Amino acid sequence: MKRIAIALSTLFVSAGALAARLPQTVIPAHYAVSIAPDLAAETYRGDETIDVEVKEPVSSITMHAIGLDFRDLQVSGGGKNLRATVTSDAPNAMITLTLPEPLPAGAATIRLAFDGRLNRQLRGLYLSKTATRKYAVTQFEATDARRAFPCFDEPAMKATFDIDLLVDKGDTAISNSRIVSDTAEGEGKHRIRFATTPRISTYLVAILVGDFQCIEGGVDGTPIRVCGTPGREQLGGFALSAAEAVVHFYNEYYGIKYPFEKLDLIAIPDFEAGAMENVGAVTFRETALLIDPRTASISQRKGVAGTVAHEIAHMWFGDLVTMKWWDDIWLNEGFATFMTGKPLAAWKPEWNIPLDNVAGTVNSLSYDSQRATRAIRTSAETSEDINQLFDGIAYGKTAAVLRMVEQWMGEDAFRDGIRAYLRKYSFANAAAEDFWTTMTDASKQPVDAVMKSFVDQAGAPLLHAEDACGRGERTLNLAQERMLPNGQSVEQSWIIPICARKTGVRAVTQPCVMISGPTSQLPLPGCDSPLFLNRNSRGYYVTDYSPAERAALRGRLSELNTAERISLQGNEWLLARNQRRDISDYLTLVAAMPRPADRPIVEAIANSLEFLDRRLVTDATRARWQRRAAELLRGYAPVSWQAPAGEAEEARLTRATVLGALGEIGGNAADR
Ligand SMILES: [Zn+2]
Repeated sequence: MKRIAIALSTLFVSAGALAARLPQTVIPAHYAVSIAPDLAAETYRGDETIDVEVKEPVSSITMHAIGLDFRDLQVSGGGKNLRATVTSDAPNAMITLTLPEPLPAGAATIRLAFDGRLNRQLRGLYLSKTATRKYAVTQFEATDARRAFPCFDEPAMKATFDIDLLVDKGDTAISNSRIVSDTAEGEGKHRIRFATTPRISTYLVAILVGDFQCIEGGVDGTPIRVCGTPGREQLGGFALSAAEAVVHFYNEYYGIKYPFEKLDLIAIPDFEAGAMENVGAVTFRETALLIDPRTASISQRKGVAGTVAHEIAHMWFGDLVTMKWWDDIWLNEGFATFMTGKPLAAWKPEWNIPLDNVAGTVNSLSYDSQRATRAIRTSAETSEDINQLFDGIAYGKTAAVLRMVEQWMGEDAFRDGIRAYLRKYSFANAAAEDFWTTMTDASKQPVDAVMKSFVDQAGAPLLHAEDACGRGERTLNLAQERMLPNGQSVEQSWIIPICARKTGVRAVTQPCVMISGPTSQLPLPGCDSPLFLNRNSRGYYVTDYSPAERAALRGRLSELNTAERISLQGNEWLLARNQRRDISDYLTLVAAMPRPADRPIVEAIANSLEFLDRRLVTDATRARWQRRAAELLRGYAPVSWQAPAGEAEEARLTRATVLGALGEIGGNAADR
């Protein structure tokens, strides 16, 4: 799932204060779900058969369901056909079917007939409207499949699904697999049957009914469509091109061809999240999928491509292999976030995606420097707690930690580990331990120790670095603590692969070294040039260099690559914001930055100058500050509303950033 930027989790109403998990005595194998929506009345009829395996004799069956009215409930197995009575446990969104006599172990079938309402809460099977008509659509992640039909609504209880939908003549329907039959039935209706799905989790089932129009494409034998309400599909061309490039890239990267039979990307008029990775039927809010190529800004195109790449990454990581329980949703979401940049960097190298990733790491470090941050892996039992887990830590920090691990392992070894993991757990479930054990086996490196140290501890490492030189040999002393505002220090340490670069050396021969514990001493060759301790800015830590080393680095900024300059700038900004540096130290570094520069570094500098402008500048200091800010922003882009001939997209964004900052800070800054 991709959340939109604002925090929406408070909108969720607690559905499971007690949050018992389902007993493991009855395990679903196959669902046949038949839904007949009445869009005019905003209701639906459901008929469902669930084939289950009864592990030991039971006299009742507990499963998830909420807000449904039952017409009939029967259970058959062991030669018996039993009529069940139902009791509802609303706080846990569960029902219990009580049987008149025990059901023996073995195969059994549950038959349920029920009625439901198309709700307006954007979850379960809900009502979505345009100006002219109604639609019935679903959003199930995390725990809302149970609102649409009774089910064993836990991610590890995977099963195959046969979906059929009885819809109005003239309407169509989309679900996880392709349509296998479409036959007229009754007055003004037709029944659409979909092919049996592979084993999938309930939260990934999708049902969409209404008038959808699609444009069609495909890649490597997989048909791909982009769909929307009539007329809107014409705005899907960009998303379709992105999806084709992305699926092709992932087919190669994952070493497993797209694991489902088709891929639809559907824009929904009313949609709570940004997008949702339902198997083969990914749903989006309209603005996250559809754009008018004549008017769309670069940021809009990057946004759509990013969301498409994120959701499609889930088809392997999340849908093919799914977490055992929601406490590992970070692996699902963090990995999709991590993967997003790869196909986009290959498809649109001019977008500078790897540099945006560095800026993303700095953002995560900033978020993680607050005392209120949480550990990546946090236990969650209730629906409310589960929904709280979809935050910047699960997405951004996890992706940043994975980028660190990837550089340390090497890109090929990392990819091979991912391939081994996906092969091993295809159409099944895995926990975080399964992930890092597979990566450890594939790389023969202690990936498990590093990952665990970053996943189970809240906060980010702050490394105090001191250099000592003698007889041409350098000794680097590193002391760890948790990155927090000055004066709130907490002793905490991580197991960190440190990959350094000697400035002025292009070819990197320095191997990464592992540190752990509060202090480390590293003997390193050569004292002739300063050492930058975060090669390519892949590390998830803040470095506190000594004043002498800082001055030395400042004098050789042009010998760092752009990614490294972004993170050095971000590093110093975080230290300043946490009262561990004087603001003037930060501004001295900004003044020394080479010009011109790539867009992400200009954005980072502009953001921090605007922050200072809002928070620290007084009427008495404003005029001086405006002159200083104008100097600091000089040389990155022409200060002009007129685009120079042949201006590249990134240069245009840089110019917009500089103009925006000068406008925000004010004065006649642009003239100076
Ligand atoms: Zn996601």
